Amino acid sequence: MYILGIESTAHTFGVGIVKDGEVIANQRDTLKPEKGGIIPREAAAHHYSLAPEILSKALNEAGLSLKEIDMFAFSQGPGILSPLKVGYQVAAFLGSKFGKKVVGVNHCIGHLEIARLATGLEDPVMLYVSGGNTQVITFQEGRYRVFGETQDIGIGNLIDKIGRRVGLSFPAGPKIEEYAKKGRKYIKMPYSIKGMDVSFSGLETFISRIIKNEKIEDIAYSLQETAFSMLIEASERAMAYCSKSSLVITGGVAANSRLNEMGERMCQQRGADFRRIPMEFSGDNGAMIAYAGYLMRDQRAKDIMPKPYFRTDSVDIGYR
Ligand code: AMP
Ligand code: MG
Repeated sequence: MYILGIESTAHTFGVGIVKDGEVIANQRDTLKPEKGGIIPREAAAHHYSLAPEILSKALNEAGLSLKEIDMFAFSQGPGILSPLKVGYQVAAFLGSKFGKKVVGVNHCIGHLEIARLATGLEDPVMLYVSGGNTQVITFQEGRYRVFGETQDIGIGNLIDKIGRRVGLSFPAGPKIEEYAKKGRKYIKMPYSIKGMDVSFSGLETFISRIIKNEKIEDIAYSLQETAFSMLIEASERAMAYCSKSSLVITGGVAANSRLNEMGERMCQQRGADFRRIPMEFSGDNGAMIAYAGYLMRDQRAKDIMPKPYFRTDSVDIGYR
């Protein structure tokens, strides 16, 4: 069974294909504005203009033609409405043209399921860290439950905002990571964690005050050490609370080596299992949507309109 998945919730347009649960294609392109952040209509324009090319590349990679696809899955939300609509329209059109089922997939569940697939960890605590989302999640009683989350901005957003202030273009994460490696001085920054929830706006305000007086390398280093420690502390608490013995980090920020290193060390200290997710699956991608669609293949196709505020814990997970 071939399932084609489309990702378009924000900056990335991606198409992935799975064959009986195995990823056989994963193509994407990310909008990288020269200045500023992501503007919704520009993201939608990027996705519309690249959709045909990314679609063909994925089909070529899999050695398939469109009529061989058995089901179309798309990222239904959460996300930004304008780019979300692109994935929805492409999937709905292809489904009706070829008379195949179309399923809407929760984007966050895509990140979680591809993490389980790529690491082979059955039932881990999952730290989901991307631009807009920061959540500590684990499976309990039929749903992915959010045990902790950001009270304000996502970790990726924080990093991108600080990056923008020092003239780095989107996505700033990889560049901040490089600067952080050269940082030598730890600047004490606000550390804000309540139970398993975290908050980053205090960090943002603090950094904006010192940004002119400190070296970017030291700021990047201190920012990573502070924010990532908060995330790993929340993850550790969730592991203890839910008696889970493994951790994965998923989402765009999971590409960061320092964050993975901290997760690894924490897990070593508790005798828990930690596995890194490969880069091709950390940021937004179509394969994760195709794979989540595969897991949900027997579910009845319900309402497939885009849902910008689609919550991870609102989905019944019938396949686990
Ligand atoms: P996503 O929305 O899941 O594709 O994640 C995108 C976010 O990941 C953006 O905010 C990026 O700045 C961030 N990101 C990507 N690579 C890294 C990295 N190496 N370190 C930290 N953040 C990163
Ligand atoms: Mg994402």
